[in-house]
Amino acid sequence: MLPRGRGDKQAIGPVKVADGVFQLQVPIPRRGMTEEGGLPNTLTYLVEEPGGWVLIDAGWNDDKSFHAFQKQLAAAGLAPRDIRWLVITHHHWDHVGLARRIKEFTGARLVMHERDVRWAFAARLNSDGTARRKVRDWMVRQGVPPQDLAAIFRGHRWAPPVPEVDVDVRIADRETPIGGSPTLRALHTPGHTAGHLCLYDSRRRLLFSGDHLLPEITPNISLFPMSRANPLGAYLESLRRVASLEADTVLPAHQWTFSNLRQRAEEIAEHHEARLREMLNALGSGPRTAYQVAASIAWNVGPWHTLGLWTRMSALFETMAHLRLLERRGEVREVADEDSVVYVRSG
Ligand SMILES: [Zn+2]
Repeated sequence: MLPRGRGDKQAIGPVKVADGVFQLQVPIPRRGMTEEGGLPNTLTYLVEEPGGWVLIDAGWNDDKSFHAFQKQLAAAGLAPRDIRWLVITHHHWDHVGLARRIKEFTGARLVMHERDVRWAFAARLNSDGTARRKVRDWMVRQGVPPQDLAAIFRGHRWAPPVPEVDVDVRIADRETPIGGSPTLRALHTPGHTAGHLCLYDSRRRLLFSGDHLLPEITPNISLFPMSRANPLGAYLESLRRVASLEADTVLPAHQWTFSNLRQRAEEIAEHHEARLREMLNALGSGPRTAYQVAASIAWNVGPWHTLGLWTRMSALFETMAHLRLLERRGEVREVADEDSVVYVRSG
């Protein structure tokens, strides 16, 4: 499901959510960005551990966002040097944007999953003509109409305005202790991105869920151009994994705190199963391109022809993640030739 730009119901931070845990609100001022709708802020977290304070997520790269962070840090009674680790849940702009600035300001060690590092600071893609051509060819084969293609390739910024910074700890394991404590662990939860991390605090019974689990909206699960991965399959597995954790409170990166972890995880899984069935039905008896499937199913943000270009593209990538999972389950076949890729129901 796509974000509808709903306002946040919480007060301005810092909010003390548990002993030694503060929630901060870092605004997302999308100046000049093409993205539509969107969320008003990123919720970041300060967690006190034996080795010092851990900051979970940085926020959007903007002065306004940085100053909001500074103000809330001071209001929480902390000095920049108190923060010893900065853990980024995933490579999206609203999470990693301020990583360099906060690392310089605090001297914290920057922690990310290795599979997200290369996407976080990929500014060179902006000027890589070969990469752009490949993406364009791929989109043509998925059935994206010429007028959309023209608009997409006319001046879109391909990579985030995120200043490059060295990552000190590249996580590769399924579970990694953080903050000098065995009770706070980063869990690899691929799906929303390949290197998404949740943090589980078993002592306080808290789950910092990043964008993996949100109280009302479902995180976007997308297949990216040329990828052979199965992000929705990975996501549903990650969802089952966190659903079994002993957590009383879930602290997400957007919207608001919630407590019904298991129930919310089941709801989201069921939402995707329903979408999978809809797409299977949309395939009918004939072959369809991914674009045709995306255009023929219902979207919560409105009828297909009323959606803006970027919403349609994000809906296309989400559709493809579902088609890929259907293919892996043996319910759909992907038939590719030089000009197009189409999907047909098996059997
Ligand atoms: Zn986010």
